[in-house]
Amino acid sequence: MDYFNYKNGKLFAENVDVEEIAAKVGTPVYIYSRATFEDHLRKIQAAYSELDTTICYSVKACGNMNILKFLVEAGSGFDIVSGGELYRVLQAGGNPSKVVYAGVGKTDTEIIEALNAGVAYFNIESEAELENLIQLAKQEVKQPKAALRVNPDVDPKTHTYTTTGKKETKFGVDIERAQKVFADYGKKNFVNLCAIHIHLGSAGHTVEPYVEAIKKVLTLIEELRADGFAIEALDIGGGYGADYVTGTAPAAADYAAAIVPLLKGKNLRLILEPGASIAANAAILVTKVLYLKKGGEKNFVIVDAGMNDLIRPPLYDAFHFIWPVKVADKFGPLQRNEDLRLDDTEVVDVVGPICESADFFAKDRALPPVKRGDLLSIFTAGAYGFSMSSNYNTRGRAAEVLVDGQEFSIIRTRETYEDLTALEQ
Ligand SMILES: *Cc1c(COP(=O)(O)O)cnc(C)c1O
Repeated sequence: MDYFNYKNGKLFAENVDVEEIAAKVGTPVYIYSRATFEDHLRKIQAAYSELDTTICYSVKACGNMNILKFLVEAGSGFDIVSGGELYRVLQAGGNPSKVVYAGVGKTDTEIIEALNAGVAYFNIESEAELENLIQLAKQEVKQPKAALRVNPDVDPKTHTYTTTGKKETKFGVDIERAQKVFADYGKKNFVNLCAIHIHLGSAGHTVEPYVEAIKKVLTLIEELRADGFAIEALDIGGGYGADYVTGTAPAAADYAAAIVPLLKGKNLRLILEPGASIAANAAILVTKVLYLKKGGEKNFVIVDAGMNDLIRPPLYDAFHFIWPVKVADKFGPLQRNEDLRLDDTEVVDVVGPICESADFFAKDRALPPVKRGDLLSIFTAGAYGFSMSSNYNTRGRAAEVLVDGQEFSIIRTRETYEDLTALEQ
């Protein structure tokens, strides 16, 4: 569920009128709901409470420090993939003993920063990286813990670009090779290789791939333990479906119902790395209609947000429900349905101002009639929305606003021309 709802034809973020935010802050603007973030986190914590579980929210989904701060207060740990994300987490007051660090290309500088911070686990993606970590740990006189990321060769049945647990992807080491990695490096000093990590990819909508992958790695863990390696933790990654179209994603409890029984009594600390399932529907991107235009058979609605603000539609073929911030009563309660076709709607393409044909938010979508100046809400924009935004076309990044009950505050100001050129000599 989320906290974006229509009351008398007007969209509210929690108890704040979205139109009021747009009037004060301008458009395009990302509007986050604190209650939605916290609700999702709490539900995951509750679903896995039977086990010794650490939830490590994936910072790359949506990493504004103000958001990380209240997630810290709510007990979250963090999954990071860069030195920059580590910096963010530490600035936000995150506890490094609840931080896991993944990524196929960690630099020496980043590794040393993470060694000094004392992250819980380095999630190791290759033998070469592990050798380098051993080297750097020796040099820094640290004894970090590491998890070997294994590639279970399971297909999460998602977009190719968000599939990460299949053999042909660049992530982790093949599961058949895992025992050799432990034999070669598992008993060396300096790095304590004592956990297994998997991450299947993003936007999966079924539990089965997790069950299949966990069964495979549990067999591996048994074999490793039999060989004398003390495996203390299993990190099952992220990728749990987020609700892009209401009601289509399994709830945290649905995943847990299948996953918890597999891990009960196994004497493993469980780590989860949810990103999208916490952040996706915790934000909307509000944009203003600039122009209406006909081209061939098409009706275009040209808005002031662009692919630099939200790149998921062209990059992942992602569906985002779009609806006016103010609607006539007859368009009824919000139904975030891909196939929504109400009477009196018009079929349009919603596009941005950027000089690329890939600059679109929706194609052949039914919308109530809109006119210049109207506000549109692009829903479920919280994950990989702002965090993937860029300055392409020398466009400042959108402002970010956090709503908390009746209140809202700007948590990142809109970038100015001066911001955009500040680092150019
Ligand atoms: C991106 C990523 C996640 C989060 O994925 P979601 O689909 O947002 O849940 C978790 N773990 C790792 C290693 C990742 O790269």
